[in-house]
Amino acid sequence: MSVTHRLTAPAPGWTTDTDVVVVGSGVAGLTVALNVRRAGLRAMVVTKAMLDDGSTRWAQGGIAAALGEGDTPEQHLTDTLVAGAGLCDGDSVRTLVTEGPDAVRRLIAVGAAFDRGEDGDVLLTREGGHHRNRIAHAGGDATGAEISRALVEAVRRDPDVELIEHALVLDLLTDADGHAAGLTLHVMGEGQRDGVGAVRARAVVLATGGMGQVFSATTNPAVSTGDGVALALRAGAEVTDLEFVQFHPTVLWLGPEAEGQQPLVSEAVRGEGAHLVDADGVRFMLGQHELAELAPRDIVAKAITRRMREHGTDHMYLDGRHFGAEMWQRRFPTILASCRAHGIDPVTEPIPVAPAAHYASGGVRTDTRGRTSVPGLSACGEVACTGVHGANRLASNSLLEGLVFAERIAADLTARLAAGDLPERVVDVEAARAARPVPLPAPEARAEIQRLMSRGTGVLRSAASMAATAAGLARLAEQTRAAVAEEKPADPRVETWEAANLLLVADALVTAAAQREETRGCHWREDFPERDDAHWQRHLITTLTASGGPVSTLEEP
Ligand SMILES: Cc1cc2nc3c(=O)[nH]c(=O)nc-3n(C[C@H](O)[C@H](O)[C@H](O)COP(=O)(O)OP(=O)(O)OC[C@H]3O[C@@H](n4cnc5c(N)ncnc54)[C@H](O)[C@@H]3O)c2cc1C
Repeated sequence: MSVTHRLTAPAPGWTTDTDVVVVGSGVAGLTVALNVRRAGLRAMVVTKAMLDDGSTRWAQGGIAAALGEGDTPEQHLTDTLVAGAGLCDGDSVRTLVTEGPDAVRRLIAVGAAFDRGEDGDVLLTREGGHHRNRIAHAGGDATGAEISRALVEAVRRDPDVELIEHALVLDLLTDADGHAAGLTLHVMGEGQRDGVGAVRARAVVLATGGMGQVFSATTNPAVSTGDGVALALRAGAEVTDLEFVQFHPTVLWLGPEAEGQQPLVSEAVRGEGAHLVDADGVRFMLGQHELAELAPRDIVAKAITRRMREHGTDHMYLDGRHFGAEMWQRRFPTILASCRAHGIDPVTEPIPVAPAAHYASGGVRTDTRGRTSVPGLSACGEVACTGVHGANRLASNSLLEGLVFAERIAADLTARLAAGDLPERVVDVEAARAARPVPLPAPEARAEIQRLMSRGTGVLRSAASMAATAAGLARLAEQTRAAVAEEKPADPRVETWEAANLLLVADALVTAAAQREETRGCHWREDFPERDDAHWQRHLITTLTASGGPVSTLEEP
């Protein structure tokens, strides 16, 4: 398999090399780099902005692991499978829940300081879909910031982890056997490594995070543009489960015109007893699910969306006034500050909330060693689809997934090195040249893609709404081709490369979502409201056709 398409970009003007190049510096990427280094391999981390600019830093609630008395990996497995609605991969989930507790202990050993009780034990709370208290948290509601701090400090302490910040990775390079042999990137800096260059490597690890920016309202930061999924598709890799996007039910509602990243009001607030109410103060989750406000996220997001429709409004409320000022300050300082910064005081008034795109359950398809369908290309963290989330992610399983599967990739690469199965690679220059250049949309396409996706392929979906999204995306693609034909192409630069990635990922997502004619997990079809195991308890695998468009095929039973 070779790279068949590539982003339009200048030829690399410089080259460097390493053993393992890791793309992304969240929990997944940094964990791979640290572990690969311990095994004696040279590691390079390439990241789009600053080291801590991904989703990891924003995680609030915590990290799930069976660490508490009476809890077991088996119970964690059961809750994960229930949330995944029949599409989890059993082996992957078992790996996650059994290796999770020790992976968290190793994270603590790296320096992450979790909140502890007076007895010194790590405090554990509960979130939606969990039947046990098993969410470890840090700084109250600043878990991701603490994990990110600890990992960033650890890689900065290691002079043998090479860090390249402000570098947008463009495409994969392969050798003559189709094995990953490095990547192309654009460094936004000055000095020897400015502009487009190439990194040669024995193995490539994608840890580029999510794709929330494909929607107008998201909890994800600006860097979450689905670059890893787009790169993998262009490289001929299989991606899967793209239709399963988790919409977080309770994101601070900032008004009808708000776009981009919006502040999350963590599930842990509901875990501690806050109620969802409508404008009349009615607790509408009661009677909808045995766990009421703590039902799995898709149930809560749908219930909020339905209630909003019934009431002709675009938000509901989360009422935590009964916590009192002291508890808000101690337990949820970040959320309290963020609400107050937007003029809302949760101590004295209910918080206006609405659902927003939060988590991509799907991604680049991997096995339990993190290997993708392209030899030498591994993926972990949110960009990957290991199969642990199925049709819906259980809250706080994603940081854990990033951690556990990053460790497994490092172990896999180390074992391959020991077995002599990780030789130096020679980039196949002819293949790289032969890859077809993907035209770049104008930067303004980003906002249009987001609007199209939120309008037609958001929480509520139907054949008609998704056809409208697909038609809008096709129009954008046509305008892009026309600009090239008229010799007025958009300049290759970060904004246009990201727009091209968003357009491809949006197209792939709509293709899969339109094909799945059932309601399952976080994929909710108004025209197919039932779960249909007979036809659909299978994955859709998406690849690129020779013309560069995505095609989804149903996995063989
Ligand atoms: C607001 C919020 C709250 C959350 N709360 C929780 C929680 O409580 N518990 C939980 O388990 N999960 C939570 N999640 C989800 C979790 O944070 C993410 O799934 C996880 O952090 C993803 O880690 P990652 O390492 O895969 O990616 P990220 O942390 O997103 O890192 C991705 C990295 O890739 C880089 N990158 C992307 N594209 C490129 C490119 N083309 N070139 C170079 N670099 C690139 C980015 O700059 C970034 O460094 C939350 C997410 C959000 C947004």
